Amino acid sequence: MATHVLIVGAGPTGLVLAIALARRGIVVRIIDKNSAPGLASRAMAVHARTLEFYRQLGFADAVINQGIKIDAIHLREHGADIAELPFKDIGAGLSPYPFVLSYPQDDHERLLTAQLKAEGVEVEWNTELESFTQDDWGVRAVLDTDGERHTSSSVYLCGCDGSRSRVRESLKLEFTGGTYQHLYYVADVETAGPPNRDLVGHLGANTFALMLPVRSRGMQRLIGILPANAPEHPTFETMRPILEPLLGIRVEQVNWFSTYRVHHRVASRFRVDRCFLAGDAAHIHSPAGGQGMNTGIGDAINLAWKIAHSLQGRADQALLDTYEAERIVFARKLVITTDRAFQLIVSQGTGGQLLRSWLLPHVFPVLSGFALARRTLFKTLSQVMIHYPDSPLSGGRAGEVIGGDRLPWVPDNFTPLQTLDWQLHVYGKTDPLLAAAAHALCLPLHAFAWSEAAGQAGLLEDAAYLVRPDMHVALALPRQETDVLQELAARLQLRFSCNS
Ligand SMILES: Cc1cc2nc3c(=O)[nH]c(=O)nc-3n(C[C@H](O)[C@H](O)[C@H](O)COP(=O)(O)OP(=O)(O)OC[C@H]3O[C@@H](n4cnc5c(N)ncnc54)[C@H](O)[C@@H]3O)c2cc1C
Repeated sequence: MATHVLIVGAGPTGLVLAIALARRGIVVRIIDKNSAPGLASRAMAVHARTLEFYRQLGFADAVINQGIKIDAIHLREHGADIAELPFKDIGAGLSPYPFVLSYPQDDHERLLTAQLKAEGVEVEWNTELESFTQDDWGVRAVLDTDGERHTSSSVYLCGCDGSRSRVRESLKLEFTGGTYQHLYYVADVETAGPPNRDLVGHLGANTFALMLPVRSRGMQRLIGILPANAPEHPTFETMRPILEPLLGIRVEQVNWFSTYRVHHRVASRFRVDRCFLAGDAAHIHSPAGGQGMNTGIGDAINLAWKIAHSLQGRADQALLDTYEAERIVFARKLVITTDRAFQLIVSQGTGGQLLRSWLLPHVFPVLSGFALARRTLFKTLSQVMIHYPDSPLSGGRAGEVIGGDRLPWVPDNFTPLQTLDWQLHVYGKTDPLLAAAAHALCLPLHAFAWSEAAGQAGLLEDAAYLVRPDMHVALALPRQETDVLQELAARLQLRFSCNS
């Protein structure tokens, strides 16, 4: 069968894109120059919005069962707890997944690879993209598998090939930003004594370290900054004399130690004709808040249904332009906010100063004492606040919901979203005119009884919401306006599906 989409890179972004496309009947090829899924645990935090997407795709529970829900953040000094921020159910009422999940990226990639296989698609390992050309008819790529060259033709090409993306370089796109001067270390270690299950931040006189659990291996992940006078080729032994007293632990075995520099950059374009960039290929930033991998997965979800619609003749080609318009805005914002958070932590130079002068007296009491502050923190970290108000797909306001917002969660309006397709939601009474318009457009309509929870979530009684295949509201229709709905469908030549 002819390939519709060639995906370069089988990291989390490429794998989720492949799953979301395959689910929609699109013929994908996914290649990776490595021989198997990554072995480094890298990204640990899986946020609520990612789990909501996984629920839609049917494997959120499998991910949750393999991870650890972080119940609390502890701040420690000299091996003793000095402050605790409860994190359990921090987003209660906001998401079916009101927590942060700790789940190592290598386990995560293996699970995604298995999910993709269940869709009938195998990753083509040991296969590297060398070059490609594109014209009005498609994309022609030169691949190298174990030293043997061959070509691949496809309608679209997606560069999910990480921060050193060859797709981005070949498209001659700028990747502007900078590189932080600090050198980070990351280690997976086994420690003596009972295993820690929370996120623990250790702030010392001239350093800081984070420790969080890796469930599948009963290990602890340690992350921090190397001292300025560290040797050129540091090992865990460089850090042991600093880390053990700081963390109050004894490390019995080191399973992985690596160092890396952190960059903050965004590509100038996310699309050039038939080629798209997603994930680290499009944007990289400081790991503050564990946003990188989750953002790449969000890119993949945003892009998959648009490519599928385009290939299936279900929308005007202009729909594809909304991918860059929606995602580049968020990527730029994210680089700025993670940069601020990162600078705050490292530029203080003395972690103790940050701890004593700011975090302890100001931030922790507010976060511990006020549910509202914790909810705001959850909304920001979990990515449930990502919205596309300026998108050509977005319009209207009903209650607190503006076109482009994530559909607020109310138990349980997310169940019908598993069709991965457009739908209309009404909370309260359905106007027969709207029902008739939906029927004529072949648009499934789900009516939910009005509830207090719906009001608390910001929905408006008797309003209608046109929900996109990626669970964002396109149109918020306070009076169930059929003309607005019909106008959007006509403008983008949207073809809905009665079968979903
Ligand atoms: C130490 C560390 C900790 C991190 N912690 C977090 C965290 O807690 N939370 C978070 O959200 N993010 C975190 N991140 C960031 C996260 O790891 C990345 O954002 C994520 O891996 C990006 O996924 P991706 O699929 O876009 O790219 P990648 O994971 O980089 O995957 C790209 C893939 O493309 C393949 N490839 C590259 N070039 C080619 C080619 N020419 N041909 C074929 N294949 C190719 C590569 O082999 C690779 O498998 C962390 C990163 C690091 C380094």
